[in-house]
Parts: sequence; structure tokens; C-alpha cells
Amino acid sequence: MVTLLDTVSKGRAGDRPRHPEKLARPDTPVLRKPPWIRVKAPGSPVYQETRRIMRENNLHTVCEEAGCPNIGECWSKKHATMMIMGDTCTRACAFCNVRTGLPGPLDPDEPAKVGDAVAKLGLEHVVVTSVDRDDLADGGAGHFAAVIHAIRQAAPGTTIEVLTPDFLRKEGALEVVVEARPDVFNHNLETVPSRYLEIRPGARYFHSLRLLQQAKELDPTLFTKSGIMVGLGEERNEVQQVMDDLRSAEVDFLTIGQYLQPTRKHAPVDRFVTPEEFDAYARIATAKGFLLVSSSPLTRSSYHAGDDFARLRDARETALGR
Ligand code: SF4
Repeated sequence: MVTLLDTVSKGRAGDRPRHPEKLARPDTPVLRKPPWIRVKAPGSPVYQETRRIMRENNLHTVCEEAGCPNIGECWSKKHATMMIMGDTCTRACAFCNVRTGLPGPLDPDEPAKVGDAVAKLGLEHVVVTSVDRDDLADGGAGHFAAVIHAIRQAAPGTTIEVLTPDFLRKEGALEVVVEARPDVFNHNLETVPSRYLEIRPGARYFHSLRLLQQAKELDPTLFTKSGIMVGLGEERNEVQQVMDDLRSAEVDFLTIGQYLQPTRKHAPVDRFVTPEEFDAYARIATAKGFLLVSSSPLTRSSYHAGDDFARLRDARETALGR
């Protein structure tokens, strides 16, 4: 899935490069993928239908924008992760393939369009994420809330998971999102603290951790979730430290997946973590007390999110002895 630095912008935002900040970076070598990174090719009739509904509602998905390897499988089950507030991000993370730049104004009709698409897809569970909107006074929190309300109206039976930015320096933003009562609040730490400066330079590890902790403090009934990518040069003991930090923040659900390099200008893959190592991480994390852990090479924070949400609910009921 490695592509060359592209100018996908044709017809949408002129001929701007997708990652202007990465143009001057040297090309990094692309490691050959091991046999366990194999995915289903997209193209089934249900995949096409999912694509059509997204296009008709003029919606962006992180599945496409981030070049997710699971798109063939997920869209064949009508599982798509909506990416709201445009296709242009104000951050420039070294791992991410979403376009970087100054985004346009918010689309006031987007909440209704998302609600409509969720209803048409007949989803039991939906994941809504967004680009970072550091340019907005509330970081886009109000728009997230409007989208949650619109989905509740259009598809009352659908459970809602939000995967939000960190709302760094956006006082009161988290409260707005939590008050809109999503079922799952997800914010990814992405990597271990020692890799932040290089991989996630615009973010702060302890701020992200605190965001997750505050979400739980604001609404203890909310499920909280976070994820990291491995294969970015982290040490095993650092991953275990992240697990401990997340448990201290009372995070319920941890996802761990292999980092894949979107283009030669992105951070290189340090190594491919073996399926056995992922299993070992799952065992350690479970022993540390997470209600649910998903750890595999192709795990992404929204991969199998609907099934996982049902398991998460069951795990809480069991833990509470009901
Ligand atoms: S794993 Fe998530 S981002 Fe990837 S295709 Fe599936 S729903 Fe989309």
C-alpha cells in the first residue's frame, strides 16, 4: 500500500501536494511486507454500495484518506469510519497520510449528512473521527456534538464511538463532546512517549493521557479507548509503560496494531512485529486489567469496532457481576 507522495488534490483542492511539509524530506526505504500482512482486495458489491453512499452524501472516510489496509474487508460489511470537518488536517504527524494544510470552513450540513449515511448503511455501531482543527476556537468539539445528535436522531439504535483529536489548548472542548453522550470516547496515544517528538510532534503525551482520564471523570459510564502503533522503533518495556499509564487513566479498551508506512516521505517502519509478539502484548495488557484488548498486525482503532463494542459491554457486565 505504499504510494508515492501524491497530489490527490485534483478536482478537490487544486494541485497542492498532499504533504507540503514532507516534500523536502529524504525518501526512506520501504520494507517488504511479511506474509502475515495480507489483506482482502476491495471491490465486492457491498464495498461498492458503501462507496456510493459515502459519495452521495459527500462524506470523507479515514478508511480512504489514511489508505487503511482493511478497507476491502470493512467496506464489504458496510463498516466505514466517517472523517468529519473536511479532508485537511492542521497537524503534520509523521505517520499519517491525511492531507496537511489550512482547512476550509465547516459544512453546516455535515451532521445531517452523516446521520443520513449511518441510517442508509443500517449500522449498529458507527465510528466518527476527524482531522485536527487547531484553527477552530473549540477544536471542532461543537461539530462533533452536532454529529452525535444528528446520528441519534436519524439512527436511534446505532451506538456511537468518537475518535477525537487531542483538543490541545482548547479549554472546555472535551466537556462539549462528552456532554453529547457518545457511547465510546476514543483518543489514540499512537506511540510511546520517547517517539512523540518525531512521530507526533504537534501533540503532548501527558496531555493525551489526561484527556482520556478526564473523559472518564466527566462521565464514568462512558467507555474509553486508546490505541498505539508498533514497529516505530519503540521498546517492549515502553509499550508496557504505556499500558500502565492507560490503566492509571482508567482506559477500558486498548488497541495495538502494526505501523505501515503510507509513502516514502513518511516515518519508516522500524520492523514488523510478529503475530506472536502481538499475542504476548494482548496477554500482558489483559493481565493489567483492560476490559478489552485488540492486538494484531492489522488492528486499527476502528477495525471490528462494532463487534468489539458488544464485547466491551459484556465485559463490563461480567466485571460488575451482573
Ligand atoms: S479498520 Fe477502520 S479505517 Fe480501516 S477500513 Fe476498517 S473502518 Fe476504515
